[in-house]
Amino acid sequence: MTFLGWIAAGLAAAGAAPPAAPGLPIAPPAPRAPAAAPILAPPRHAGAQDALALQARYAEAMQRVAERQRVFPKSSDAAVLSGRAAQGGLVFGRTVPGATARLDGETVMVDEDGRFLLGFGRDSAPTALLVVTLPDGAVERIAIEVEDRDFPVQRIDGLDQSKVSGFTEAQLEKIAADKAKKDAARLETHARADWADGFAWPVEGPISGVFGSQRILNGEPKRPHSGLDIAAPEGTPVRAPAAGIVRLAESGMYFEGGLVFLDHGHWLESAFMHLSRIDVAPGQRVEKGDVIGAVGATGRATGPHLHWSLKWTDRLVDPQLVLPPPADKAAAAAE
Ligand SMILES: [Zn+2]
Repeated sequence: MTFLGWIAAGLAAAGAAPPAAPGLPIAPPAPRAPAAAPILAPPRHAGAQDALALQARYAEAMQRVAERQRVFPKSSDAAVLSGRAAQGGLVFGRTVPGATARLDGETVMVDEDGRFLLGFGRDSAPTALLVVTLPDGAVERIAIEVEDRDFPVQRIDGLDQSKVSGFTEAQLEKIAADKAKKDAARLETHARADWADGFAWPVEGPISGVFGSQRILNGEPKRPHSGLDIAAPEGTPVRAPAAGIVRLAESGMYFEGGLVFLDHGHWLESAFMHLSRIDVAPGQRVEKGDVIGAVGATGRATGPHLHWSLKWTDRLVDPQLVLPPPADKAAAAAE
């Protein structure tokens, strides 16, 4: 896999005549769109029917884009993208200060240096449309191909059944109270691009669970695995994989056990679960490499490991795609 696995193609600003290519029909110039006019502006919580209609309109829009697009060899004129455009991938963008960006109609945070972040969920569609509006009002549309990935099935047996299903009234209350705390911790973010410096492994150890796998817990099908599991002895220090602001630091969560949320900016947040010890407090800023707690087996776990989830807006993404290769682990496994 190449690190720069993304493909970006751009469409000239609306209103500009598309370049003539031999053998292709030349479309008449489109009327100039108002600045920042999105092709699509889906409601935040579209229902299933809305989502279907949206998909149909989107497919149609993409077809028009494909017919008229101008392919840039590296990046578009308006935005430079890097990272991995794949299901579960994060893409790091840079445009000019003062520009705005929308991904499939949703506004994306652009900081004062023109940096922005895009994320693609496990079940992302194969294409996405980035619309960048430059400070002079010029609009550039960039079609992004999102690489399809296969996710394995993982069966885990021997979990405490009270953490899997058949919850009592009291347990349901505890689960709801935990959820309220997590929701409250996710209401804000910051504009500092703490992700721009890259990510490091929070602990060293064998991978015991990958992102996106279809989970079967004690024989019951459950939601796909939300993050990366790294096995390590109880008490192993957990280090911040990137800088950020602590938004939640709670021990005793029903499923997560000891849980820390770390906000890397631009709505990108790490969650570290099953911690045996927590060394940080909400509101605290930590730098990359700082110890935030220790590995444990608290909450729903069969043994000591770190579960690390990464979430961009409401989309879970795969921590492994932003990590450097586990050099020591690969060497150790070969012995
Ligand atoms: Zn896990």
